Amino acid sequence: MADSLLSDAARQLERALKYASVSEDTIESLKFPKASLTVSIPVRMDDGSLKVFQGYRVRYDDARGPGKGGVRYHPNVSLDEVQSLSFWMTFKCAALNLPFGGAKGGITVNPKALSRLELERLSRGYIDAIADFIGPDVDILAPDVYTNAMVMGWMMDQYSTIKRQISLGVVTGKPIAMGGSLGRETATAMGAFYVIEAILPKFDRVPQNTTVAIQGFGNAGGTLAALLFRAGYKVVAVSDSQGGIYAKNGLDIPSVRQFKDSTRAMKAVYCEGTVCNIVDHEVLTNPELLALDVDILIPAALEKQITEVNAHEVNAKLIFEVANGPITSAADPILEAKGIYVFPDILINAGGVTVSYFEWVQNRSGMYWTIEEVNQSLRRKMIDEAEQIWTIAHTHSIPMRTAAYVHALNRLGEATPYG
Ligand code: NAD
Repeated sequence: MADSLLSDAARQLERALKYASVSEDTIESLKFPKASLTVSIPVRMDDGSLKVFQGYRVRYDDARGPGKGGVRYHPNVSLDEVQSLSFWMTFKCAALNLPFGGAKGGITVNPKALSRLELERLSRGYIDAIADFIGPDVDILAPDVYTNAMVMGWMMDQYSTIKRQISLGVVTGKPIAMGGSLGRETATAMGAFYVIEAILPKFDRVPQNTTVAIQGFGNAGGTLAALLFRAGYKVVAVSDSQGGIYAKNGLDIPSVRQFKDSTRAMKAVYCEGTVCNIVDHEVLTNPELLALDVDILIPAALEKQITEVNAHEVNAKLIFEVANGPITSAADPILEAKGIYVFPDILINAGGVTVSYFEWVQNRSGMYWTIEEVNQSLRRKMIDEAEQIWTIAHTHSIPMRTAAYVHALNRLGEATPYG
């Protein structure tokens, strides 16, 4: 593991090895991705020119089932990043006991610079290039950063065209009308919310006296802010890529969301109908938000936000990682020494892949679930696995992150074909 992001991910795993019951063979077999594919995707642009994009698909491990993981469209996508994300997916699926291995994909592209038709040709071209590498029983795709249900719909349609049969199970996160599951869009935030609700009493806390700061107000962070607000938590600060807002007595999250949806601007407002008025607040930078003295801090934006440089400044009591990899392995011991309890990404943001699993099950059975069935099953799964990880953490007096890796490793060990 020569590169930085993947080596950092591997360091998190190393701490768990001495508490897990796994053979040397299992550890050896998890050192490298099982298969990595790099493809060139020629796309006819709207102006008639031809442009070639680089795409990737990595299957890190499939001992527990077909590979599972999203497809990211971003200018910074590289093979290293895709390999690291596929590594996390392997442990996330095992920690949640989903019958999947870990995979990930991506295209190096700025999707905002493409027209809708160019984006469709690129997405279909990506499937043309990787069709022999994926499948409902081999490796299953899903949305990630800058891909959505529409893109998943194109991908499933293209794969079905190539295979000359409808193959709903090759992609999850599809539009509802094309075999998608109810509750998939809110699943990541919902899963995190269920775990927070289950954990809070262990710290003798109730929502009404619990303050929360959330970095990132997108699909995951924005939805979670709304769920916490509705449950009575005091959400005092939120931010996006431009910066944040803070109100000591709590923000009116539905108003902040309504204003952001209609103007794209993040403002501390209270809305009645369509009329929104600015309320008392302070403007924050993202580093200031991360240093707030709050009960719960939720990084829900990007990787590497809390590092050895700023970990000393963090003042929250509990951190729930909704983003993938927001805390580096060098920052972890600093937070631990300060008595800050970190609940790791491979547990906290696993609601998305869990409902993806439910979608795959529904596609294969042909029976579709109600939103109540989806959320009840999600709640049961998230709380059950969180409790098991909590027990491992307390049995060995280790951090929740290490415990989550121990939990996942034990399951991966049982499934490793080499012993
Ligand atoms: P998104 O694009 O919907 O939202 C991202 C948010 O982060 C936006 O509000 C953006 O303005 C903000 N942001 C970007 N740069 C920032 C910065 N420097 N500081 C503060 N905020 C910044 O993305 P999302 O789907 O909500 O994903 C957020 C994170 O959660 C990612 O790490 C993603 O991998 C992870 N995640 C998401 C899901 C899911 O189902 N959406 C599932 C698992 C993990």
